[in-house]
Amino acid sequence: MHCLDCTLQSRPQTPAVGVCHSCGAAACPEHATVVQTASGPIGMVLSTPKRRLLSCLNCAPKGHLAVA
Ligand SMILES: [Zn+2]
Ligand SMILES: [Zn+2]
Repeated sequence: MHCLDCTLQSRPQTPAVGVCHSCGAAACPEHATVVQTASGPIGMVLSTPKRRLLSCLNCAPKGHLAVA
């Protein structure tokens, strides 16, 4: 599977590292970012571990565009 954004930019051979959880597009490290789900409701801290989700840059919420 190859990165959708790279393919759209005439770079069809870039391997993807994962699939965007929102739109389903495959994304390479350059075009993907990891977002974490919000913390659980107050009182649920111990029972709601954070999940990591891969998002393409098109779907990433503002503030998550820079990969740590
Ligand atoms: Zn890419
Ligand atoms: Zn997406």
